[in-house]
Amino acid sequence: MLLILHPDTPKDSDAYRQTMSFLENLDNVEVRLHDVSGRQQTLTEVYLLGDTKALDADAITALPAVERVIRISDDYRILGRHRYAQRQTGFDYKGVHFDQNNLNVFAGLCAVDNPQHVEETLRVLSDNGQVCTRMGAYKPRTNPYSFQGHGSSCLPWVFELAGKYGIRVIAMEITHENHIREIHEALEQAGHPTGVMLQVGTRNTQNFELLKAIGRQNEFPVLLKRGFGITLNESLNAAEYLASEGNSNVIFCLRGMKTEAGNPHRNMVDFAHIPVVKRLTRMPVCIDPSHSVGTRDAAPDGISDIVHATAQGVIAGANMVLVDFHPNPEKALVDGPQALLPKELPAFLEDVTLCHETYLKRQAIYNRS
Ligand code: PEP
Ligand code: MN
Repeated sequence: MLLILHPDTPKDSDAYRQTMSFLENLDNVEVRLHDVSGRQQTLTEVYLLGDTKALDADAITALPAVERVIRISDDYRILGRHRYAQRQTGFDYKGVHFDQNNLNVFAGLCAVDNPQHVEETLRVLSDNGQVCTRMGAYKPRTNPYSFQGHGSSCLPWVFELAGKYGIRVIAMEITHENHIREIHEALEQAGHPTGVMLQVGTRNTQNFELLKAIGRQNEFPVLLKRGFGITLNESLNAAEYLASEGNSNVIFCLRGMKTEAGNPHRNMVDFAHIPVVKRLTRMPVCIDPSHSVGTRDAAPDGISDIVHATAQGVIAGANMVLVDFHPNPEKALVDGPQALLPKELPAFLEDVTLCHETYLKRQAIYNRS
């Protein structure tokens, strides 16, 4: 059961105290609090877990701090919609807004290789008005002898360069909970020139201890990749692990499914699930066309498959695009063959904007009263 308290209820008010003391004395019911900070107000949501079937919803609605009571299904308790569309979607981080209606592009290096490539990437992004990027420092690799990423050693100069080029948010995959502390400390030492969105890779979607550790902190929002060999429901439950531990600033990323049927693409593009994720949950939805498609091959129309897949996702309402970019892909240590080139970026961004505007127009057509 989910209770929404009246907006901005002070925690030291009588109404709040009376309400909480009633709830905490319920038998076999665990009470979990969740503050949702919006632009205008802070909403406190209270989750009653356990033996809630017999609870009298009217009696709980009558408690002084309670605005409304919602019976919720077991799935995605915090991140789900539960037929209550007014529940807020999205969040702000470092001055960038993320929700189920807008769009942010994160182009950048699959893997940080050297300071020259990082600087050149950030310069091109900044010249093109971008404030977000992706930079892999901790790389999960199939082959143990492949480059594993520079790890924490590259963080100081990556963060400093990001600050120099006005980058506010870097999506950065982590593979171990210690990496949260390493990133926190490096940002602290650099004087917070930028921000980080912690990325959980497709190979770690069901690494539950990693998810719990990331969920226990609220400093960094999270980009959770869909597991490439599990059901959508299983991946959405993985996102709920983050929220159940306290961090609901989560973006869900579609990145293709591993199956021979996707050939000649690296994975089977799954962007048709964008509206499904939006219907089932309140998470903004990201698409990763690079890891879905995996090659720079183009159709006779002169448009590469990666760019086509991006357009398909954005026109269907994607809220974020995570895309590999490299100033010199032949020299990239990871995933060079799928990286966008500097000369391609302006057209790519123009296309993404066009598709997002088209999505908004499509939405208007189907919502005419
Ligand atoms: C990545 O984005 O660099 C990556 C490794 O993606 P995925 O986890 O989706 O394979
Ligand atoms: Mn990659």
